[in-house]
Amino acid sequence: MVQFSTNKLRISSGMRPTGQLHLGHVVGALKKWVALQDQYQSFHFIADWHALTSDYADTSKINDYRIEMMIDWLSAGLDPQKSVLFVQSAVPEHAELHLILSMITPLGWLERVPTYKEQQQNVADKDLGNYGFLGYPVLQAADILMYKANAVPVGEDQVPHVELTREIGRRFNTLYKETFPEPQALLTQVPRLPGLDGRKMSKSYNNDISLSDSPEKIWKKIKGMMTDPARKRRHDPGNPDVCPVYSYHKIYSSEETKQVVQRDCRTAKIGCIDCKNWVSTSLVKDLTPLLDSRKKYVSRKGDIQDIIKDGNNRAAEVAKETMQEVRQAVKFSG
Ligand code: SF4
Repeated sequence: MVQFSTNKLRISSGMRPTGQLHLGHVVGALKKWVALQDQYQSFHFIADWHALTSDYADTSKINDYRIEMMIDWLSAGLDPQKSVLFVQSAVPEHAELHLILSMITPLGWLERVPTYKEQQQNVADKDLGNYGFLGYPVLQAADILMYKANAVPVGEDQVPHVELTREIGRRFNTLYKETFPEPQALLTQVPRLPGLDGRKMSKSYNNDISLSDSPEKIWKKIKGMMTDPARKRRHDPGNPDVCPVYSYHKIYSSEETKQVVQRDCRTAKIGCIDCKNWVSTSLVKDLTPLLDSRKKYVSRKGDIQDIIKDGNNRAAEVAKETMQEVRQAVKFSG
């Protein structure tokens, strides 16, 4: 029998299994989730239905991606004894709640979500003109409200989605019955890790450092990374505050190194290659324990299946309770 702590606040958050994770996932989500798992009753799901919104045409690898993602999560330190780690599509109640919430969500709310237009403009290699893509914030709302989450650990760009979830939950509570608490965005003070070109790190922008990259490949990518655009030649002074490489220093380098970069970039005393070499070395060092742990989990795929199954059962237990309440609220029970 699964025990759920009654005195801990809940969080819910997922990740789309669309291939190998990158460093943005580790810094932007996984490290936060690991830090929060003692404090909150955490529900984390592999958002495979969300993956379909953009990757519906080829689902041949989705099963491998699910397993790989769970391996990455465990390697990063998520503990299945503390957090409920599961696969979204294994809990079909998510789809039912999504359907009901989609009925009460005005179209205008979805059309004004900033990531909707931003992604349609930036993602050139996929068709995002589908109904599912417009509606994915409603599915997100279902994922969050299902577990009556009090908070959602997100990056700045996802804050509008949490706001929308609150609006949808509020509308449900007003139309039918007080059912859902209002989740708050939980922004933690981790500096943003941009992609190699300074934009948000994303596989679809081809600007990511993947967890499968070798140290040599990481160095090659960082070597080619965008810097302060005003620093065109070696003797031009630069400004670390506008340089994406410095954003990496903020996360991976010692205080001493950061001070050296802040001082000597501005006088052109150091070159960008040295600066990039320092950050690449400390990044690889930081990543090594995760990659070592990953190797161990890869050889235990049977255990991973068991962990997923157990997480699915624990999530379903809560989801079934919530859906009973929801059906009663909308008079669709019995
Ligand atoms: S020295 Fe470092 S911080 Fe300065 S512009 Fe070059 S890469 Fe960026």
